[in-house]
Amino acid sequence: MNIKMQQYINGEWIGAKSGNTRDIINPFNQEVIATVPDGNEQDAQAAIAAAREAFDNGDWAFAPAAERALIVRKIAELIERDKEELAHLESLDTGKTVEESKGDMDDIAGVFRYYAELADKDGGELIASPVPNSISKVVHEPVGVCGQITPWNYPLLQASWKLAPALVTGNTLVMKPSEITPLTTIKVFELMEEAGVPAGVANLVLGAGDTIGAELSGNLDVDLISFTGGLATGKKIMQAASVNMKNIALELGGKNPNIIFADADFEVALDQALNGVFFHAGQICSAGTRLIVEESIHDEFVAALVERVKKFKLGSGFEESTQMGPLISAEHLAKVEQYVKTGITEGATVAVGGGRPEDPELQRGFFYLPTIFTDCTTEMKIVQEEAFGPIITVEKFRSEKEAVKLANDSIYGLAGGVWTNDVAKAERCAARMRMGTVWINDFNLYFPHAPWGGFKQSGIGRELGKLGMEEYTETKHIFQNLKPESINWF
Ligand code: NAD
Repeated sequence: MNIKMQQYINGEWIGAKSGNTRDIINPFNQEVIATVPDGNEQDAQAAIAAAREAFDNGDWAFAPAAERALIVRKIAELIERDKEELAHLESLDTGKTVEESKGDMDDIAGVFRYYAELADKDGGELIASPVPNSISKVVHEPVGVCGQITPWNYPLLQASWKLAPALVTGNTLVMKPSEITPLTTIKVFELMEEAGVPAGVANLVLGAGDTIGAELSGNLDVDLISFTGGLATGKKIMQAASVNMKNIALELGGKNPNIIFADADFEVALDQALNGVFFHAGQICSAGTRLIVEESIHDEFVAALVERVKKFKLGSGFEESTQMGPLISAEHLAKVEQYVKTGITEGATVAVGGGRPEDPELQRGFFYLPTIFTDCTTEMKIVQEEAFGPIITVEKFRSEKEAVKLANDSIYGLAGGVWTNDVAKAERCAARMRMGTVWINDFNLYFPHAPWGGFKQSGIGRELGKLGMEEYTETKHIFQNLKPESINWF
């Protein structure tokens, strides 16, 4: 494999201080595809010290925004140049199809380009001062040293949402990718070095969450922590970050409803209900795993879903015919299996799937059959908790009000969809759905220009769009008195 299997700290490619390493496994066949350093708190501390020094010396933070933008634009170009290699690595590491990974790489280059374009557009603001003979201006400055922690499902995509806005705004950073899927992030740090990101500005540490991740969250020299991952981890990070009142941005889980009204375009809604869940074997934070279907079409809709699901082709992400790859790990497969058992115990009916595939060629991989549960009700665990696998639960509704009520009955509020040809009904539902993103007659679409994030326990803050950049800035008011006079109070 043509990448450096190292951490990147203060411009140096180095192993873990302890000398420990970790094997990276291909989820399709459990083969070891790489061995990388397994760092710990000491590596994180060295990286934080480098980022602190690079921020405090001011060279990067006070460089003209256009200079930083040039470097970030160059990163986008290098990602495009090495797109095939990056997509190959991402599929090896995650098991997703290489076509999905290529799509991710296009999106990732787009994110770097989008933020490069925005970088020098913020000239601050002069405000009309109520005080005579004065200048009052509002400017945005980098926050400082950023800790950035990413998950395994969209490793490089999630990294890009953090790296690009942090860099263009003049922050320095320490990134920790998921210990399960670090390969494309390592490769992009090579590309960032090639693009001219100065030593110390962007640092990469590799290893576990409860060591490196905890250090980044609790270290007093880190000013901001940006995390994408599960709710339980998010709670720990929020608590640890309170030690110095870090700025926090948390992108957490989802249990996303997808409402299908009887007047929707049946075939399109059906197709998108499948796309909305089964890409990357359902391991998508915004997967529309809670289908909420109008009673009059429920049976027909479920029958059609089942027919389509039976034909899914599971296999290697590198085979053109493969539609769905494996789950990420043995541990995650066991978790998904347990959710299916729970669903059955709770009284839901398995309409299709509900086990591992029998195909002998898939036995070494962490495969699970696409599964649809019917007879679901909102209080069931299988409806409420994020299984993060290829599972759809189907609930029925009779009225618009009931559909929205079911959709909102969740601790999460990441995203949701509504399918109908009645524009006014669609708008009414979208307005009442308590989620950071609502799709009308679409699902899972996102682009760099629109903010992404969750209501309720799906998180705090936003990534992407202008808001995604504002997360990485502090706002300062500078007031200048042009005619200072004594007050003579004391
Ligand atoms: P996870 O929470 O287990 O791990 C995420 C990252 O946190 C990893 O790098 C891990 O090493 C690190 N970590 C673990 N314990 C830590 C600790 N105590 N302190 C600091 N860091 C720690 O999540 P995962 O299983 O990798 O990812 C799946 C989850 O991510 C799902 O819940 C999914 O919905 C969510 N997700 C959300 C979004 C979004 O945009 N909202 C996007 C992708 C994934």
